[in-house]
Amino acid sequence: MLPVIALVGRPNVGKSTLFNQFTRSRDALVADFSGLTRDRKYGEANLLGRKCMIVDTGGLSGEDEGIDSVMASQSLAAIDEADLVLFVVDCRAGLTSTDQMIANHLRKQSKKVLVVANKIDGNNHDVVVAPFYELALGELHPTTATHGRGVRSLMQAILDVL
Ligand code: GDP
Ligand code: MG
Repeated sequence: MLPVIALVGRPNVGKSTLFNQFTRSRDALVADFSGLTRDRKYGEANLLGRKCMIVDTGGLSGEDEGIDSVMASQSLAAIDEADLVLFVVDCRAGLTSTDQMIANHLRKQSKKVLVVANKIDGNNHDVVVAPFYELALGELHPTTATHGRGVRSLMQAILDVL
């Protein structure tokens, strides 16, 4: 069994862009379930030589919904089946209450979690990631998924905790 890594987080934070960075080619796509499983997408990732299964999720719901609707989705199932969760947040948008709700859920699980602080772009890392320490999920892993920046160090961080 390959280790399973799940990408979770609000819509539009860059989960699918990261998924593509990890899988690189279309051939890597193992299965794409829509309908019943609502956008859970499995791909094979090669992390600096180690094969893993990576799961992209369609995104947790909007800002003014409660924890139940936020987490009552395929993301819960993806978290359950994962060996490691990559919780992706958006540094351009800043910290949101939905991020807080997701973090609260993840802190109650006995799962390994890495917080990916995406959309760093040209900004100062320290400044834009700082608000996300409030999530209390440990170290933050800065990336600019669209340019693949930070992806290699993220892969190394994943291998260190798997
Ligand atoms: P998802 O809904 O979480 O899967 O997010 P997507 O991967 O579909 O990305 C949402 C949008 O954000 C797309 O237009 C991406 O091109 C853009 N995006 C992803 N990563 C970055 C980034 O690092 N910087 C910027 N500026 N845009 C990004
Ligand atoms: Mg997506």
